[in-house]
Amino acid sequence: MIKLHDKHFRPFLSQEEVKVAVQKVADAIAADYKDETPIFIGVLNGSFMFVSDLLKAYEHPCEVSFVKLSSYSGLTSTGIVETLLEVPSESIKGRSVIIIEDIIDTGRTLKELVHLFSKTNVREFKIATLFHKPSVYNGEYNIDYVGMEIPDKFIVGYGLDYNELGRNLKEVYQLNQNTMINLVIFGKPGAGKGTQAEFLKSEYNLKHISTGDVFRYNIKNGTELGILAKSYIDKGDLVPDEVTIKMLEDEVEKNADASGFIFDGFPRTTAQAEALDAFLDSKDMQVNATVALEANDEILIQRLLERGKVSGRSDDQDEAKIRNRFEEYNEKTAPLKSYYEGKNKFYSVNGIGEIAEITNRLKAVIDKL
Ligand code: AMP
Repeated sequence: MIKLHDKHFRPFLSQEEVKVAVQKVADAIAADYKDETPIFIGVLNGSFMFVSDLLKAYEHPCEVSFVKLSSYSGLTSTGIVETLLEVPSESIKGRSVIIIEDIIDTGRTLKELVHLFSKTNVREFKIATLFHKPSVYNGEYNIDYVGMEIPDKFIVGYGLDYNELGRNLKEVYQLNQNTMINLVIFGKPGAGKGTQAEFLKSEYNLKHISTGDVFRYNIKNGTELGILAKSYIDKGDLVPDEVTIKMLEDEVEKNADASGFIFDGFPRTTAQAEALDAFLDSKDMQVNATVALEANDEILIQRLLERGKVSGRSDDQDEAKIRNRFEEYNEKTAPLKSYYEGKNKFYSVNGIGEIAEITNRLKAVIDKL
């Protein structure tokens, strides 16, 4: 395990495995270009090591040049692509160009590259990448040469960095997510999930995702998602799974560098729980514990009606709507208890008492994980 800035990384590919991938690209290009002299154009900074080894593995005449783009900031692709070193337009005129990338994930940088090279008068240009993440790639352009397809993991080493560190590593490492804590906070409407999540979030340095809050934010801003969700929420019904799952995944993606998450109000159906497991698994993450705040209906109804007076939430002001939310819970959400019990991840906590007292009960569970 190695540490770069605040994060830990564990081995992913050995030097030998990288070498095989490099040779695969070199051989495939040679098969197409050995009878002419292509110009390899490396995309800086990430590709410098790959370009160097690729050229050594390429046994035919070739030239080399570089362009420099930047799109990464921290662990997530910001989508902002700048040109920092211009395309050498004159020297590539009429030539066959092979653009060399270290990694192609979403395809945003690639789009910019295709755009840049389409404006030149090269004879043709091809795209080669050492690593490719097919699961997140937008599929917009054909990638001509791929060294190795990899899952959607954040990797460093062999030219790739995490905030500029790690480029000099000979092997490739992946972000170690095992130190993350991901909690599901579970309970009926009014059980105090949001209140407790606020305390736990600062105590354990976690990112709090409340699907109810995200919906309300979207409703307030009149987004397409908000307009769609409003009709369900106003009646106290659940918003359809496909909408909610997609939204939740987006929220997690936006916070790729969090040291853990508190999922509040999600999952609320078995389909959502299964989707959450599959999604986290694809990111080498998992739910560590589901903590349920237990309280009886009559207390909850009183709490919600009180809250409704202050918050103005229409779903909190009408006892019939509240009862409908409880019914939704009993029918669709309560079965999740056995889902998580089956994985030994379910912890029940008494949700009645002083707020601080309940926080302590939750901390006692989490500290034992
Ligand atoms: P909450 O703030 O968690 O009580 O959520 C308020 C409302 O948002 C719920 O009554 C649902 O209509 C909707 N909602 C929140 N989370 C979900 C979810 N995971 N699945 C479906 N609907 C949800």
